Order: sequence, then C-alpha cells, then structure tokens
Amino acid sequence: MTKPVIEVKDLAKSFGENDVLKDITEKVEPGQVIVVIGPSGGGKSTFLRCLNLLETPTSGQVAFEGQDLTTLDTKSVNALREKMGMVFQGFNLFPNMTVLENIKLAPMKVKHVDDAAATKTAHELLQRVGLDDHADAFPSSLSGGQAQRVAIARALAMNPEVMLFDEPTSALDPEMVGEVLNVMQELAKDGMTMVVVTHEMGFAKSVADRIWFMADGYIQENNTPDEFFANPQTERAQDFLSKIL
Ligand code: ADP
Ligand code: MG
Repeated sequence: MTKPVIEVKDLAKSFGENDVLKDITEKVEPGQVIVVIGPSGGGKSTFLRCLNLLETPTSGQVAFEGQDLTTLDTKSVNALREKMGMVFQGFNLFPNMTVLENIKLAPMKVKHVDDAAATKTAHELLQRVGLDDHADAFPSSLSGGQAQRVAIARALAMNPEVMLFDEPTSALDPEMVGEVLNVMQELAKDGMTMVVVTHEMGFAKSVADRIWFMADGYIQENNTPDEFFANPQTERAQDFLSKIL
C-alpha cells in the first residue's frame, strides 16, 4: 500500500475562544483530487493552512508523506513545505520582476538550481499554462486570469508533491475563471495530488475524486462527487447545496 501524501489526525485549531477546526481526521492519497467545499467561515482556509503549517495546529497531527510536521523543527518543516505548492485567491506575484523571473526565483534561491536550468523549466511551465509569450512581461500588464496561471506555474517550479489551492478563482472576473480551472484540470489529469477549496461546483463535479464538505469546523461529509451532489447526507450539506445550486 502506498503512503498517503497527507494524513491528518484529530486536528484542532482555535483562535482564542473560537474553535475553528474541531476534530479532523482525513487522508489524501497520491494522485487524488480533493475538493473542499462549504460555507464561508467554516474553516476551509484555516484547514488548508494547517496542512503546510502556515497555521500551527492547537492539537493533533499533520503528516506529510508519513512525517508528522507538528514534531519537526523549523528547518525540516521548511524543507517539506517546499514539496507543497500553494495558490491563493490573490496572486502575490512580485511586481518588480518579470513573469519569468517570478518563476525562476524560488528554484534558484531555495534549491540552488542554476540559471540555465531554471530558465528552461520556467519556459516549459509557461507553455503548460499557455503563457510563454508573456515570459518577459511584468505582472501589472497581466489580466487576473493570466496572473493566476503564472502563480500556478510558479508553484509548480518547485516540483511539488501536492498542490493546495485556496479559492484560486474567487477574485477573478467571470470570463477568466475557465482558463484557470482548465489549467487545474490538466494538472489533475497529469496525476498531480491536489486539495482545492473552491465554490466552482462544475469543477468539483467533473474533477474531484472526493468532496469534503466542511462546516462548523468539521468535515461533515467525505464522498464521491456523484454521491455527494445527488444525495447529501447531512442537513448542513443539503442546506448549503440548496443555496448555491
Ligand atoms: P473559510 O475559509 O471556510 O471561510 P476560515 O478558515 O477563513 O474559513 O475562517 C474560519 C474562522 O476562523 C472564522 O471565524 C475566522 O474569523 C477565524 N480566523 C481565521 N483566521 C484567523 C486568524 N488568523 N485569527 C483569528 N481568527 C481567525
Ligand atoms: Mg477561506
């Protein structure tokens, strides 16, 4: 049996009195696409941030490829974090660097990849997201959809084992959502392990292997998209779906 990429046990996270994650035990297997859906404020972003220890769990364990991150020193956590690409709602590209330089930066600085190799990989990744003709552009000249595709290419440049997406299309104009979802769908098809928080139900239905429905600090349902959308088990999920579908 292969090791889960991510394994979470009894994960809880509180901010002061606010118990945001209550008791989460789940696994992400290699190549799986997990789509996390649920109402705003339900803890989805906090959960995703706990997976790479951008937030420190209050209790419980988060293991990456069998290693419990919560027991490791900062240096070891940083080394493992490099294997988890993250893409947020905002693109966070460095404005004073070209698209190509944005993508080359982390591999060269963190992994000490040489300039020629980093340039080659960056061009390959830009081709993959359909933007190699924008290699020398600055972020300010890009549309939101283009910037988000560059952000995905930049995350891929570190050759991650898993990609975490937190509402990657929520800040985009509607006509740009599709181009970003297409890139994500291609990634999934190529076998990338992914955990995606999104409100894009079409994407969830067609790309997810599992839907995790999260509300009130729990993963209330973990099911296939077919089962989840046709037959939500909890009242909480039924209520959520009745509002968005
Ligand atoms: P979602 O992504 O599902 O909308 P979040 O994880 O962003 O939910 O937020 C869940 C709860 O955690 C909210 O009540 C929010 O106010 C709280 N929260 C999130 N981050 C912080 C923080 N850094 N400090 C204090 N409270 C936080
Ligand atoms: Mg969120």
